[in-house]
Amino acid sequence: MERIYMIPVNDAYQSECDCPLCELASKAETNELDYYLGPSLMEPDTRKITNKTGFCPDHLGKLNRREANRLGLGLMLHTHLKDVNDDLMNVMKDSIPGKSSLFKGRSSDYKSKLTALADKIDKRTKECPICSKLNDSMGHYIEVITYMFKHEDGFKEKFAGAKSHCLPHTAMLLRAAAKLSQNDAADLVEALYQNDGKYFSELIDDVEWFTLKFDYRNNDKPWGNSKNAIQRSMRFLASDRSDFDEKQSKGSK
Ligand SMILES: [Zn+2]
Ligand SMILES: [Zn+2]
Repeated sequence: MERIYMIPVNDAYQSECDCPLCELASKAETNELDYYLGPSLMEPDTRKITNKTGFCPDHLGKLNRREANRLGLGLMLHTHLKDVNDDLMNVMKDSIPGKSSLFKGRSSDYKSKLTALADKIDKRTKECPICSKLNDSMGHYIEVITYMFKHEDGFKEKFAGAKSHCLPHTAMLLRAAAKLSQNDAADLVEALYQNDGKYFSELIDDVEWFTLKFDYRNNDKPWGNSKNAIQRSMRFLASDRSDFDEKQSKGSK
């Protein structure tokens, strides 16, 4: 394993984040968003891909919120819309069920045609070069983490000292652990169990205190760590997303 791959992993485990894998994912995503909003959006090779795939709903939203390279996005969307139009609209025309009449009997053929078209639309709207790149990167980071856990001095302690691993990333680590030898898996899962267990109880207490603070009798008592307990719980349950950002909850106390 080359050291260059270990640097970002080490940095993430040294940072004060709630989940080092969320930290790595967020950095990788920022790089991808920068890339797709940068000059690459005009490059023929990239355009060949994005014209075809477009972006998933989540990443369309993130590209939109950046408010950068509107021209590039417009040009990409123009070709992408044409591509999707060519792909879908003729099929949709062919899928309009013929009405049954005295001469033409009923046929249930249209049902499978309509479902197939719906499936095709679902598939196309989910396609996303950013998601596929992130999936690759996260798979790679998980490999680096399991390698370092086994071979890199001091990394076991860093891993065990993480505040938590959010549940989706815990699942990724468990899948990776299932491929290790029994003894290596034992250490990794024990460490995961310890820090996730601790974080679960912290969150449960913090969210409870958040709700108790709505009781007027607790008005003057300190918030402790509860102020962002809702967002931290969401990030733990579902991985870090910009929707779970503290800034997104203007209406809260
Ligand atoms: Zn995570
Ligand atoms: Zn995506």
